[in-house]
Amino acid sequence: MALVADSVALRSRRKRAHAKGDHSLCEPGRCPEAGRAAAARILAAAPEAGPAAPSLTAAVASLVVGLPAGDPARDVLSASLQRCAEEIDAAGATAPLLRELRVTLAALCPPVRGPQPDWLDELHAKRAARRAAHGWPAG
Ligand SMILES: [Zn+2]
Repeated sequence: MALVADSVALRSRRKRAHAKGDHSLCEPGRCPEAGRAAAARILAAAPEAGPAAPSLTAAVASLVVGLPAGDPARDVLSASLQRCAEEIDAAGATAPLLRELRVTLAALCPPVRGPQPDWLDELHAKRAARRAAHGWPAG
């Protein structure tokens, strides 16, 4: 696929969709939501990738190409991610490769930092109650 500059029409369509919470047009490097979606697709595909069905190198390349350039730390992570994808495509996924893939993707496309899901609140509440029952600080 050739990289061509997006048309004004596409950019404004993307901007409107993004504002409405639809990130299907967004670029992984510019929209955290799209980055997380791309990272999740790569992670989901990784265990199946290997010499018989090499798919990670291309998926990682399309994520990396969209990332903003000029950050040396991100460049190192991107290079490491690409090497990792190439190894998996060449020889299949191993636990250490999958771990490196996961850690690198999380660093490049950080998970949401926002309100925690309800079940976490419940866990914290139960923990606080248990500690209080023992007379410990709520911590
Ligand atoms: Zn978006």
